[in-house]
Amino acid sequence: MQTTSDEQQELWFLTGSQHLYGPEALRQVADNVQQLVQAVNGFGRIPVKLVSKPVLTGPEEVLKACNDANSDSKCVGVILWMHTFSPAKMWITGLRALRKPMLHWHTQFNRMLPWATIDMDFMNLNQAAHGDREAGFLHTRLRLPRKVVVGHWTDQEALDRVATWTRAALGWADLQGARFARIGDNMRYVAVTEGDKVAAEAKFGFSVNGYGVGDVVKFVNEVSDAQITALTSEYEGRYNVARPLRKGGDRHESLRDGARIELGLRAFLKDGNFKGFTTTFEDLHGLKQLPGLAVQRLMADGLGFGAEGDWKTCAMLRAAKTMAKGLPGGTSFMEDYTYHLNPADPLVLGSHMLEICESIAEGQASLEIHPLGIGGKADPVRLVFNAPAGAAINASLIDLGNRFRLIVNEVDAIAPPEPLPKLPVARAVWRCRPDFKTACAGWIYSGGAHHTVYSYAVTVEHLRDFAEIAGVELVTIGSGTELQELRQTLRNNEVYYHLAPGLGQI
Ligand code: MN
Repeated sequence: MQTTSDEQQELWFLTGSQHLYGPEALRQVADNVQQLVQAVNGFGRIPVKLVSKPVLTGPEEVLKACNDANSDSKCVGVILWMHTFSPAKMWITGLRALRKPMLHWHTQFNRMLPWATIDMDFMNLNQAAHGDREAGFLHTRLRLPRKVVVGHWTDQEALDRVATWTRAALGWADLQGARFARIGDNMRYVAVTEGDKVAAEAKFGFSVNGYGVGDVVKFVNEVSDAQITALTSEYEGRYNVARPLRKGGDRHESLRDGARIELGLRAFLKDGNFKGFTTTFEDLHGLKQLPGLAVQRLMADGLGFGAEGDWKTCAMLRAAKTMAKGLPGGTSFMEDYTYHLNPADPLVLGSHMLEICESIAEGQASLEIHPLGIGGKADPVRLVFNAPAGAAINASLIDLGNRFRLIVNEVDAIAPPEPLPKLPVARAVWRCRPDFKTACAGWIYSGGAHHTVYSYAVTVEHLRDFAEIAGVELVTIGSGTELQELRQTLRNNEVYYHLAPGLGQI
């Protein structure tokens, strides 16, 4: 429902050179850039259009290009490349002004050296080997966050690195100005879902504001019977709907209540142009049920969500869903719920009271109704399913008081080892990397939340690129993680992030 104008988004390709080589060489550089950009667009691996900009040969042009990138809402990031040597002092003012994500692609127009014919003209045209080092020095000297990708522009691995970063930049662009609704406040006494919303807005560009559940109820009450009938028919076509919930069944009214809540919540979110929301089961005045099905379906449409007021997970879920758009595998709100402590193969069962996104359902989901032990409301309708086997990640954004930390654990989801006939919620079962004990201890030392963004589509690399763009700490737990090393990294990071603002001074 929240559509961004993806088709119009662009990446700008900024090529550096200088006047030393004469107009003929500059014309050649410009032609080569056109050819490169056209070819890369043709490969179709990068999810937005790459746009070549005129070759930059002086400080005023660089500053103008950077300012243009800043002010053009279509531009989600810039790729820099020094086709020839481009003395980097001419980039200082521009790059200090640049506020869009930046990738430095260390490539070269010619892939192979023409050994038999190579002469000084060739040498002077294909200078990225030293030109990009001059650029890299300045980027490091200015402490500029960026991603460096190495490889010829036809190299599929390099294109994948660029594509992954592009997705991180799209996630970032989508957060700028994003509005998230915190419906009700925090679940009382819970610590990790709290945080500094002012710092978050300054850091990530999204705003979180509170709404009373009554603001939603107003929309829920305006839903018409005809709308509800149409939506329940849609449910019956799409899901394996439990017999009592179907039309004519003795619980059909509960399904209609669920549909009413979905329609009302959708209308509320559309009216406020929100990209995500949080709820809390402690504050449901005027709603008959805790929104389960509604939240599951809204997440599947790309909205962020966090339960119990968890606005940080809500924002990260939205970012992850934006990054993942078009990739295979779903992305959901998740909670480490309970463990299978088989010493030979310890497993985590992830779930929530209700709110697991339909995008991670394996096969057709069942639409069921069961009592909910907490909240004191009518039995909520919900989708029940297993999440598929496959490589996935759990990610958690926490507020450490002086900074945000993004923690990611790589996991391997498996099919549940046995059927779960009595479990009335959607669920995922996974093994942690590198192993259960290291992953859990590492997560707990890092301060990771019980709520996460769980994704089969987003990888550590997407989140590393995202963290670099955002300028936040990233802690990864995966294959190769060693616990005592991780603990030392956490200690080192305390010092680094205390000093980093000072290091950024020139
Ligand atoms: Mn929870």
